Amino acid sequence: MKWHELALNADKNTRHVLGLSGGKDSTALAIYIRDHHPEISEKMEYFFCDTGAELEEVYEILDKLEAYLGKEITRLSSGKPFEHWLKMYDNYLPSPRQRWCTLTMKIKPFEKFVGDDPVISYIGIRADENREGYISKKPTIKALFPFVEDGIVREDVFQTLENTIGIPKYYEWRSRSGCYFCFFQRQNEWLGLKRRHPDRFEEAKRIEREVSQRKFDWLKTEVEECGQGYTWHQSGTLDEIVERAEEKEKTPTLSKKKETRKWQDLLKSELDDDPEDQACLICSL
Ligand code: SF4
Repeated sequence: MKWHELALNADKNTRHVLGLSGGKDSTALAIYIRDHHPEISEKMEYFFCDTGAELEEVYEILDKLEAYLGKEITRLSSGKPFEHWLKMYDNYLPSPRQRWCTLTMKIKPFEKFVGDDPVISYIGIRADENREGYISKKPTIKALFPFVEDGIVREDVFQTLENTIGIPKYYEWRSRSGCYFCFFQRQNEWLGLKRRHPDRFEEAKRIEREVSQRKFDWLKTEVEECGQGYTWHQSGTLDEIVERAEEKEKTPTLSKKKETRKWQDLLKSELDDDPEDQACLICSL
């Protein structure tokens, strides 16, 4: 049975939910379902797990989507800001191995939202990617993958957005949605954050500074233990990362031709997302 037949034949007590991250795929999926299967969109509960550390552009795209769908997007939250959870996790910055941020600020609010109800969750993984999701494993939740079944690929997703509410602006300098300090950011994306949102970059630096390992010193009270404690990125502090990204930018490469196409068109022709990308789907799909 096709995904939409399963959806329409589901028991009337089943809830239909679509989690939005502010990213291209989940946004395009909501639009796709609304345009091609309005009877399913009617039943859909749209939600967004807000960590409180989202970029302004994410709220902008959610507002536009809400207007397009003509339905409210429920905003969920863990009820506490990131720094509260950081303290609870002993001042360990989250990382790909210790992804407590997703669990606490995204997955748990989602699981609370659906409770023990039978649920169909619509996931925006595309037909041209081979990603596994970091999604809820609750047995009452059944996941459906409309884009995979309908052969929708990256270019279709960008085209859908361009034809409707527009591509989220942060794709001009960042490859995914998610918290402004997300540790999955690439070096040049940290540089992008510094340039587009200098206040957010400074905030990320402050958090990094404050969690660096410290030891007690009788004269100075407290000093950094080894000059480098825990950082957002394994290859160094944010200042070091940005410096490297700036250096790289200055280095001329033989193949670098002056690009004249619009950034929206460039995105469509770029290679697929990194297959090693283990960013959580609930954050960045
Ligand atoms: S976007 Fe990044 S930092 Fe934010 S919850 Fe997801 S993995 Fe954690």
